[in-house]
Amino acid sequence: MDTRVLVPLETVTVEAPPTPVSFVPTPTATYRQHRKAVKLTVEPGRPTNVEQPPVPLPYAFGARVLIWKQDPSVEEIGTRKAFLHGIVLEGPRDARIASGAPGIAPVSPNAFGDFVMTPGTPQFDAVHTFAVVRQTLTMYQRALAATGSDSPIPWYWNSEENTDPLQIYPYGLSNVMNAYYSRHENCLKFGDFVPTGSKSRVYTCRSFDIVAHETAHAVLDGLKPNWLLADQPPQTGALHEAFGDLTAIFLTLSQLDQCEAVIAQTKARMHDKTFLADIAEQFGLALGRPNGLRNADNDITMEEAGTEVHGLSQVFTGAVYDILADAFHQEREPDRHDDAAVLHRVGEYLKGLVLRALMQAPDEHATFADVANAMLQLAREDGKAEDYLGFIRQRFVVRGVLAEPAPDADPGAALAPGVQDAPGAVQDRRACCGTMNLAEYYQLDNVLDEELRALQRWCAANRRTPPAPPEPPPEWPEPV
Ligand SMILES: [Zn+2]
Repeated sequence: MDTRVLVPLETVTVEAPPTPVSFVPTPTATYRQHRKAVKLTVEPGRPTNVEQPPVPLPYAFGARVLIWKQDPSVEEIGTRKAFLHGIVLEGPRDARIASGAPGIAPVSPNAFGDFVMTPGTPQFDAVHTFAVVRQTLTMYQRALAATGSDSPIPWYWNSEENTDPLQIYPYGLSNVMNAYYSRHENCLKFGDFVPTGSKSRVYTCRSFDIVAHETAHAVLDGLKPNWLLADQPPQTGALHEAFGDLTAIFLTLSQLDQCEAVIAQTKARMHDKTFLADIAEQFGLALGRPNGLRNADNDITMEEAGTEVHGLSQVFTGAVYDILADAFHQEREPDRHDDAAVLHRVGEYLKGLVLRALMQAPDEHATFADVANAMLQLAREDGKAEDYLGFIRQRFVVRGVLAEPAPDADPGAALAPGVQDAPGAVQDRRACCGTMNLAEYYQLDNVLDEELRALQRWCAANRRTPPAPPEPPPEWPEPV
């Protein structure tokens, strides 16, 4: 006998008493509500339209990682979870980047394919370093894709026969206060050291800025192999260093939460002190510099920098940072759009503009003026308004990179360079990062060859003949 009690619907009101935990399956409105909620949450079940077979979702390749937003010293913003699109295997490694090095066992993903490690551990350092290198390469790959190009960005050594990845060594330089990119070792190596008067070790691989900077050397070396050589003019070397620092800024701006943090920190005033302009904060603090190892928001001019590549690079970096600030202030509309979203968009455009201009510059002996003029030409082709072109032009003129145009000059014509390298000027790389100080970029083999050729010439001039070969030793009787 059916003992269920049928409750008329009209007796159920919104003010009904709380539903008991244990339900009697009576077809009341309350019970139906409960079943619907359970179906939607804990037991979704199959779709009601059973005649349509369920469509399998594509497997979502990609890994979640945990990284420092800047570095351990910038406590205010700390760490962030990030999603790396694509396949990431144990190491971590993928097709283009491989980590796993002395001092750090290969890191395995968890059951979800993620690499979320504990800050301060070697596993975290390996994942952080890999993730920032990967984000940098992806960022520039996307910038190229935005121009309609589908070509990959090669490493220096890549060819039809050699598709080796860039190897990463987060603990590659023990007790070394530096980091470098080496095209001969196909790698990035990061140092760690204990600053004077401190008890805690600083790991350069934990710096978002330093990892992005060194990766940028590798990216640019794949695109412009001659620029890294020490026999290029000072401005060419400085473009490499500037690209490193600008990459750290562009990568920060490619991440929405970092844009929000910059806006909140500066109240949308880009020339206020901000972690965005401070490059390598923890490393800078170790050297007693409160504004980072370098500061992009600077006023250094070409006249002040001379041939010192590190200082010279800051002229170009500073000009692009000023252009970023100008573009942001011109485009922001706080009544209509979120400032962080505008900053993200402005950074995105400027990153592509700088990359395209660098690629358009000559393969050797490139100057700041080559890149500045290419930026102006590309921005004009992109349809940027005259006032936008105006502040690009003006920022480079103020720094002495471009000469002031004549009042009647054709606005589309390339501008003359401002301060130029003296003929035969030699790069002074002493204050640069480890990459610029590696012997491999000084073409020391050429120096040695030249020394040997000079020796040959001297021998010929002095008719020096080789001494007679020594007399052969006397023949001893065979032992019996
Ligand atoms: Zn560098």
